[in-house]
Amino acid sequence: MCINPPATIFYVHTHSMAVSLSFTITHQSSKSLARTGVLHTPHGLVRTPGFVAVATNGTLKSVDFARADAAGCELVFVNTAHFLVNSDPDWVASVGGLHGLLNRHNRPLITDSSGFQVFSWLKSNLVKQVTTQGGIVFKSYRDGRLVHVTPESSVLAQIKLGADIILVLDELLSNVASEEQTAASMLRSHEWALRGRDEFARRGDNAKQALYGIVHGGLFPELRAQSSALIGAQAEFGGFAIGGALGRARDARAVEALTAGLSALPRTKPVHLLGIGDVASIEAGAALGVDTFDSSFPTRAGRHFSALMADGALVHIRALKDASAPLMPECTCECCRQCSQAYLHHLFRTGSEQAMLAHFMCVHNLHVMHNVIMAGLRRRIERDEV
Ligand SMILES: [Zn+2]
Repeated sequence: MCINPPATIFYVHTHSMAVSLSFTITHQSSKSLARTGVLHTPHGLVRTPGFVAVATNGTLKSVDFARADAAGCELVFVNTAHFLVNSDPDWVASVGGLHGLLNRHNRPLITDSSGFQVFSWLKSNLVKQVTTQGGIVFKSYRDGRLVHVTPESSVLAQIKLGADIILVLDELLSNVASEEQTAASMLRSHEWALRGRDEFARRGDNAKQALYGIVHGGLFPELRAQSSALIGAQAEFGGFAIGGALGRARDARAVEALTAGLSALPRTKPVHLLGIGDVASIEAGAALGVDTFDSSFPTRAGRHFSALMADGALVHIRALKDASAPLMPECTCECCRQCSQAYLHHLFRTGSEQAMLAHFMCVHNLHVMHNVIMAGLRRRIERDEV
């Protein structure tokens, strides 16, 4: 997709060395810390604030990348842990990295470190135990072998996978953790972040990938501020992510913690909010200065036959009763151009054709997320309404 050059450039982020990632802020709102911008990566642009769809195992499930990209996907998130368990980063490197494997040569990718994923497997009981001595050790749910992920091996795996943006290893705590537990975990994540930074300096290539540091501190603003100061001071990080147990970014405690977490990060670098992408949280996060948000909710909702509407509401196909109308009359997506609600109801009732229904609804949801909700948010920021 072609993007017109920004009309006004307020700031261009550059290093003395060649760097893969640069961030152009195109408008700073006068009403809040919200800004619009463009992230330039070796595989294309990301307009910000931008939504990042999650392709867990290298697939968005129910939608192929050609249709997802046509629906507006720019940056896409891939989970490293699945490639450690189900595949092999060396093999991925031998077939051209993730960009080659997914045949997504002209669109950017971001990978996580494995930290979040392994701890969420623990929460869902897929993995029984995770030890955090010097890294993360867990038993593969696939073949029972012990998988050891260190801050160094995580960065190395992500260098082989070759995404444009990669993340340092971190620990995910539950949002009911005490302040003491959260502080101990934050210090561990800090140590891992600095070890990841050093490994990237030894083995990585700034001209190909950017490593993001991750701010922790749970729901405790003082810890978030400490983490922001330490992580934000590392000039080697090409950008920053906000991690760990915030719940929904629109809740008052989460907003306070997020504000503190952003407080000491250089405003010239991009900020990603990890794993939070419901519409209200995006609105709240963007106003605080967050640039990108990943979540699997539009595709997950599509697979469960719920349509995303322009106001962010989800409506199940059963509740849509206007037989001759598409899902959303004003929508220009492939699904709304091709299908009446009657046809979608028919696919739903067949049972055997529900995969096609999931496909159509995922296409619609991604289109609305990117072209209606995020594009609308960017327009309102440009008008200083956010
Ligand atoms: Zn549509």
